Amino acid sequence: MSSHPPNACTISGVASVSHASRSVCFCSWLVCDDTACGYRTQNQSIVGSNCLARGCHGRLQPEFGEKLLYTQLKYFDVMFDEAEQKQKYEGKAAPVIKESHSQVFGLLKTQMTSELSHNAYNFCRLPFNI
Ligand SMILES: [Zn+2]
Repeated sequence: MSSHPPNACTISGVASVSHASRSVCFCSWLVCDDTACGYRTQNQSIVGSNCLARGCHGRLQPEFGEKLLYTQLKYFDVMFDEAEQKQKYEGKAAPVIKESHSQVFGLLKTQMTSELSHNAYNFCRLPFNI
């Protein structure tokens, strides 16, 4: 855990990063997977995911997809999980966290868990019926 005290700025910063990530994800920017091309657009091709740049045979991919957003939210979820962070010390003395800081971590953990509960990547689709 960080030695800097969490405060309103920390909560606001995490919320801001989370919101910015969602905004980038839903802006639907597409980039060409051909590194020599580097084409970036919000236009969709009518012929699938083909690159719209003349002469390019690359494919357009989401610049910041849902999977990346899920990974970032999951990272925050684990980062603010105080119990999970303390497990990393395995036998060593874990740093003592002030009650006020612990409450902030709890709030951030609750926020991230809530956001992850609405994310489809949080659920596993089994390839067979049980
Ligand atoms: Zn291209």
